[in-house]
Amino acid sequence: MASVFKNWIKKFLGLDRFEFERVVVKQEVIDNICSFAKENHPREFIMFLEGKAKDKVLRIRSLAFQEYAANEDSASPKIYFPLNTDIAGSIHSHPGPSNRPSRADRHFFSKNGMFHMIIKEPYEQSDIQAYDKNGQPMSYEIED
Ligand SMILES: [Zn+2]
Repeated sequence: MASVFKNWIKKFLGLDRFEFERVVVKQEVIDNICSFAKENHPREFIMFLEGKAKDKVLRIRSLAFQEYAANEDSASPKIYFPLNTDIAGSIHSHPGPSNRPSRADRHFFSKNGMFHMIIKEPYEQSDIQAYDKNGQPMSYEIED
């Protein structure tokens, strides 16, 4: 009985859309990420990733709500997204040689979705690393 109630609550709150085993990112999203990172260099950029989980697959289909950080050490956006949008996570750039999350990044990840990406210089597809909400590295697939 308890688990039925729990499942109902999860569905009611829409949390079931975050259950997934695989992540698939559109090639167009990857290309846009590389372009934005290059255009904004040496500034950092951050955007939210739009996507939905269905049949255990989280599909990232677009970028949302571009916002610039005030300085290169900060990944905190100034605009907060509307609750009814399908925000799955975030992407931000690191002007520099590391795409590992900082302490501030990990804190941000834990509060802003389930799938996050960091891109480092020189901002090519292979410079992107994905993380889960705990800051643990995650793999993903790319599709056209
Ligand atoms: Zn960062």
